[in-house]
Amino acid sequence: MKLSHIEHIGIAVKSLESAIPFYEEKLGLKCYSVEEVAEQKVKTAFFKVGETKIELLESTDPEGPIGKFIEKKGEGVHHIAFATDNLQENLDELSEKGVRLIDKTPRKGAEGLNIAFIHPKSTMGVLTELCEDPNKTANN
Ligand code: ZN
Repeated sequence: MKLSHIEHIGIAVKSLESAIPFYEEKLGLKCYSVEEVAEQKVKTAFFKVGETKIELLESTDPEGPIGKFIEKKGEGVHHIAFATDNLQENLDELSEKGVRLIDKTPRKGAEGLNIAFIHPKSTMGVLTELCEDPNKTANN
């Protein structure tokens, strides 16, 4: 298992429209991409801070994962995502070690990344995402 850095931190917000100005005007970051991920019922907005990104998540459906999260816990940090170069291998390794996974095989996330989630029951309550950039892996 080798994680290279924190790829992004996912933050659940009620509205991108009101959250983006905070990050741009108060923190001085630039939103470089807004993308809807229909499968996860979210609209995302991305900011870069060094090698790490901030991913704001707005629900597009109250029954979706972010909609439910906000209803239960309110706005706030939703997940932490680590970057790796061999996602499937890592998932197999975690599974063998008895770690509970939400995704046993990678799926497509925002920005064309392959992603998979580890269940918060296995991570002391922190929803943890692993992600792999298929373009980067292909170039290695
Ligand atoms: Zn994420």
